[in-house]
Amino acid sequence: MATCIYCHRAKGKRSCPALTGLICSRCCGEHRLVRIACPADCVHLTAHETYQRGRSAPEFAAERAHLVQGLKDREAAVSLTALEAVIFRHFAARPTALDGEAIAVLESIRRRLSPLRLSEPTRSPLADAVWKDLEPFLKEVNRQAAAEAVEAYLVFARSFSGAGLQSRHYLTGLFGFLEQHDPDLVRELRTHDTPEAGRIISG
Ligand SMILES: [Zn+2]
Repeated sequence: MATCIYCHRAKGKRSCPALTGLICSRCCGEHRLVRIACPADCVHLTAHETYQRGRSAPEFAAERAHLVQGLKDREAAVSLTALEAVIFRHFAARPTALDGEAIAVLESIRRRLSPLRLSEPTRSPLADAVWKDLEPFLKEVNRQAAAEAVEAYLVFARSFSGAGLQSRHYLTGLFGFLEQHDPDLVRELRTHDTPEAGRIISG
């Protein structure tokens, strides 16, 4: 029998495209994306993703509802919906992206919305692309209210992500939430995929 290419103990059952060999399901589950550089199209990775999205969606929805209730300007929630749609467009096709990348984008958007016009410490092509997509929506809402909503959303995203540097809790929760609560939007966003964003980061 073929033993696991990672632990060399258990029976290798899954074909691992990153290690080009058979891996046991336990090693695949424990080390994927953490110690193994999984390619984005691995079937075991995407199956796990789909499962995790469905599982974390209710918690994400509940905490997000709490956040929206706390907004002083309820209309600002509109800018959050647009923001999440844009994040989805740029991150959904990349199951290997980490929360840290999305949070950096959110921070950049918050800086750009700031009345103080803080300068960007570093220019990120991804943050530029997200901002370009988001700008038309921001014209519809009060800028100050949008800035406050994004600030609150950033606190929420950081908290949902947790302390782990490799965390994907936020992105997984967001995708699960959108897939369950707005499947029509998700369908539309998927047909307008933006492969150039993926190329920028993985390149
Ligand atoms: Zn193993």
